[in-house]
Amino acid sequence: MFAKCRDWRLMDEAVAMGVYPYYRPIEMPAGAGEVVVGGRRVVMAGSSDYLALSGDARVRAAAVAAIERLGVGTGGSRLTNGTLALHEELEGRLARFLGHEAAMVVTTGFQANLALSALFGPADEVLADGHVHASLIDAARQGRARLRRFRHNDLGHLARLLERGQADAGRLVLSEGLFSATGDVCDLPGIVKLAERHRVRLCLDIAHDVGVLGAGGRGAAERFGLQSAVDVYTVAFSKGLGGLGGAITGPEPVINYLRHHARAMLFSTSLPPASAAAALAGLGIIEAEPERRRRVLAHAARLSTELAALGLAGVGPGDTPIIAVPVGDAVRCMRLCSTLLDEGVFTLAMIPPSVPEGRSLIRLTVTAAHTDDHIDRILDAFAVVCG
Ligand code: PMP
Repeated sequence: MFAKCRDWRLMDEAVAMGVYPYYRPIEMPAGAGEVVVGGRRVVMAGSSDYLALSGDARVRAAAVAAIERLGVGTGGSRLTNGTLALHEELEGRLARFLGHEAAMVVTTGFQANLALSALFGPADEVLADGHVHASLIDAARQGRARLRRFRHNDLGHLARLLERGQADAGRLVLSEGLFSATGDVCDLPGIVKLAERHRVRLCLDIAHDVGVLGAGGRGAAERFGLQSAVDVYTVAFSKGLGGLGGAITGPEPVINYLRHHARAMLFSTSLPPASAAAALAGLGIIEAEPERRRRVLAHAARLSTELAALGLAGVGPGDTPIIAVPVGDAVRCMRLCSTLLDEGVFTLAMIPPSVPEGRSLIRLTVTAAHTDDHIDRILDAFAVVCG
């Protein structure tokens, strides 16, 4: 059983070269745009706390007040003794915010995706974009649905899979609003047309776009004016909302069914009071302060344009807070991230299996906590790497 663990040497090369980039302890002055790593203060350009809400004084105060009133844990699952009025308030707010009938709050974004598995059976077909998050693939597998992957944002491929599939099967297209590694937005207008033509359901994971994309922060569908075309959303509170937790929103009968069938809901302790209160406070800020997302997107536009001007090929897209810098080779990618850290900028090395073999990339993110000076420092570090 344990022999494979002793034999596992994959990361040894990176460790030996001193470029192993994972599990670095970070001291986090919350939401400040900078962190301390190994005793050095560096610009954090790898966080998904896009709106800098993790450290927002109002969000922190809401979380602290919830702890003072309700304690740190709920002592049970939602089904049994772990449902709080706070959970129900959050579900109501989320459903209204996203224009759906109902919502179900779970403990992480990963669990929200996994909970979808309760909808699937062996006769069903799940058509998933090639880049969707691991938890969505796990859901299809756990539900024993027939899983078909279409090449990333390739609607011709999706159309062929839909034409070939069984029209009488239960069918669901799965995609993400904003893709977490590559920073591009799903081709929702095309997907919606296909979903309507083939009468299949559509589920969008908006972990990364909620709070950030669309005039009101409702994600990619709002950006395209297609909110009513999405049947089900899965949401994570761990990115734009700055905390932890997840939810599924959709039609009332679907949510009610999931509440009673989704194992990730039934058999896991519910979201702690602090996280529920933080998500509620965060939603209020997302609705009240659109300037936060405007600021993030302005940083992203500037950074991607100026990185391209440094001669980096394929940088982008520039209209979302996630900027991908294609590298290719995994070891080279880790080495570049290590050099960037030496130059004072923390970035993420996305290597297989997070991305396809040979398509490693540096994932850069901008947040509302960044100043123009932080963007300058990121550009200076890349100038050294490119030089
Ligand atoms: N969906 C996507 C697209 C994600 O990137 C992530 C987090 N990496 C999740 C779901 C899971 O969310 P959480 O980290 O809150 O469990």
